Amino acid sequence: AKSEGRNLYRFFEPEMDAVVQARRAIEVDLEAALPRQEFDLDFQPIMNIASGEIVGAEALMRWHSPARGTVAPDEFIPAAEETGLIVPLGEWALRTACTAAASWPPGLRIAVNVSAVQLRSSGFARSVISALAFSGVPAAQLELEITETVLMDESKAVLKTLRQLRELGIRIALDDFGTGYSSLGYLRRFPVDKIKIDRSFIGDMANHDTAAIVRTVIGLGTELGIVVTAEGVETEMQLDMLRENGCVEAQGYLIGVPSKASDIQRLLKSRALH
Ligand code: C2E
Ligand code: CA
Ligand code: CA
Ligand code: CA
Repeated sequence: AKSEGRNLYRFFEPEMDAVVQARRAIEVDLEAALPRQEFDLDFQPIMNIASGEIVGAEALMRWHSPARGTVAPDEFIPAAEETGLIVPLGEWALRTACTAAASWPPGLRIAVNVSAVQLRSSGFARSVISALAFSGVPAAQLELEITETVLMDESKAVLKTLRQLRELGIRIALDDFGTGYSSLGYLRRFPVDKIKIDRSFIGDMANHDTAAIVRTVIGLGTELGIVVTAEGVETEMQLDMLRENGCVEAQGYLIGVPSKASDIQRLLKSRALH
């Protein structure tokens, strides 16, 4: 259906040709980038709001392309999904993130983003288990962040994979919560340990209605026994509101920006109270 879409664009909107060509060019560069080791992970700290303690970090992929400069994941992940490169690339990210986390103080969690394409690929659970074994990181310290698009197809295979991973002790987080069209439905049907409230809500909490939505989601998480993390926390005022409403975790520039593995390791050693 994707290639059909392309042809339609080409038919009706000739100016889309440039867009399609740019996308192809990215896809070609991406294929070469993995063997050339142009990818890197940054890590962003996640804080427990009540204690102020850093409880882990999320791995965020970076592409340092000699030709393009540093490319943001929002620009290259869709292209990597299109070509299937996301499967080996995601495997690399899992392994690299777990290897970094192996040198953190014990008990800290490592969160890794997983694309829908990856989760649907047959060897996914095996590659997760292998990354844990390779790094020596316990399953209970690994958190996989999936977005609602992963759950949209409701395939039995995806559900089975999620269950299998959870049985191993791996946590599943629902990322960008509230941006999909059926967030509540997914909570009912899928095994989830955590929800991450999308940063668009947190950034708009000065708005009365948005604040009400955020409070409601926090309450929902509490009722369901699901940890709620607020994303994109940038101000003390936002953090105060989240604290007052019992939000468990916060992530955002206020707590810490995404940083190199060596910097995050230093931060974790100084701010994790173990
Ligand atoms: P995400 O998983 O929602 O990650 C959070 C994004 O918000 C990151 O953007 C992060 O740098 C940014 N961010 C964090 N705190 C703040 C804040 O206080 N304010 C603002 N304005 N932004 C903040 P980034 O690194 O550009 O990543 C974008 C998206 O790319 C991620 O969104 C995730 O969906 C995807 N992504 C990143 N790494 C991977 C990966 O290894 N695999 C896959 N499949 N997707 C990835
Ligand atoms: Ca994420
Ligand atoms: Ca998110
Ligand atoms: Ca996002």
